[in-house]
Amino acid sequence: MEFTFSAEQEALRGEIRSFLDEHLPPEREEAHIAPEWSNDPDDYARALDFNKRLAEQGWLTAHWPREFGGMGLSILEQVVLREEMAYRRAPILNANGLNMLGPVLMLNGSDEQKAAHLPGIAASDVMWCQGYSEPNSGSDLASLQTRAIRDGDDYIINGSKIWTGHARRADWMFLLARTDSDAPKHRGISFFLLDMKTPGITVQPLQSMTGHVHFCQEFFEDVRVPATNLVGEENRGWYIGATLLDFERSNIASAAGFRRSLDELVSFLHGPEARPIDEMARQRLRHELADRYIELAVGRNLSYRIASIQEVGGIPNYEASMGKLYFSELGNRLATTTLHALGLAGQMAPGSSRAVLAGSGMLGVMTTLIGTIGGGTSEIQRNIIATRGLGLPRA
Ligand SMILES: Cc1cc2nc3c(=O)[nH]c(=O)nc-3n(C[C@H](O)[C@H](O)[C@H](O)COP(=O)(O)OP(=O)(O)OC[C@H]3O[C@@H](n4cnc5c(N)ncnc54)[C@H](O)[C@@H]3O)c2cc1C
Repeated sequence: MEFTFSAEQEALRGEIRSFLDEHLPPEREEAHIAPEWSNDPDDYARALDFNKRLAEQGWLTAHWPREFGGMGLSILEQVVLREEMAYRRAPILNANGLNMLGPVLMLNGSDEQKAAHLPGIAASDVMWCQGYSEPNSGSDLASLQTRAIRDGDDYIINGSKIWTGHARRADWMFLLARTDSDAPKHRGISFFLLDMKTPGITVQPLQSMTGHVHFCQEFFEDVRVPATNLVGEENRGWYIGATLLDFERSNIASAAGFRRSLDELVSFLHGPEARPIDEMARQRLRHELADRYIELAVGRNLSYRIASIQEVGGIPNYEASMGKLYFSELGNRLATTTLHALGLAGQMAPGSSRAVLAGSGMLGVMTTLIGTIGGGTSEIQRNIIATRGLGLPRA
């Protein structure tokens, strides 16, 4: 068992650090909210500019195979890249395009679809959103009701999607729609590419509990989509949608990002701004911090284990669910520990004159809580681990 990185991988790490020193906007390193969530258009513009530099460097699509314009980095090289980016809070926009749709098109798209869409994603020119969830279909996604009916060379889409991250800025959406209402629910769904400027689409922004406007609900009224925008075969979309290959299944970015938050908290507690607390509270806090430290170390090893499965060509299955579940819940525990450490000042929002640690206390609790819902709730991850990992019967 070897836990060290090779000299070449460490050299890559050094190269990434130098790049970040030169190009990462300093405001971003301090920010505790993703630029897609930010209500400040300048913040988003800076992040976009940084992404274009990453694209020029090739690192935005470093995980893509060379034949599609990527660098074909090995999984362990990707781990190094992700670790460094996440520790510095480097914003990577368009995960939907880079990590989900891109790989799906490489596997299932027509040559025309690959040629039309992969270059825009790679250059950070075209942003994508994911149209899966509906008002009455979340965990049970296969019950979705948005319909697409064939009409000549087009499909006509009617229905609604909700909780669509980034939809207000996205240029395109990949969406699942029902093309056969009589078939068993998983077998009547198709996967479409939809230009967000198509007539008949209304995007309604939704304000989340943090005060940010990131999610949207979309309404589709007789939206015409060319049949050439169907990916794969009609009625086979569930299988395409369900196997979206996320290259970041190891959650190494979460491990590194949370490590950064813990380091910052500990350094804050050593400094003059830390509030005075009595001996009992100090003992409790020390133990709580020690627990988070242990959990982060465990999580990092879990990430490396998942990456090592990928490195030898395996596809992590319930292991990816273990990573998602573990890190989303750990993130929330760490944020709660931060709030305990900061006391009342931890409840101040970013920008408040009394905020400490850039207002990351209460904001962190809220943003990490929603991490336990997006991408499949903790309950759904536990169901997957129970059935696929332990072989228990479905509930
Ligand atoms: C941060 C974030 C980002 C998101 N981004 C997108 C996006 O870009 N595109 C998109 O399409 N959607 C997105 N979503 C929506 C997300 O996929 C859904 O919220 C999620 O799948 C849960 O669905 P739901 O909200 O309808 O809750 P429901 O499915 O109604 O679940 C409600 C509760 O019941 C529990 N539950 C449901 N079924 C079971 C079961 N079988 N066993 C045990 N418990 C169960 C759930 O765990 C949950 O606690 C996002 C959500 C969040 C929070």
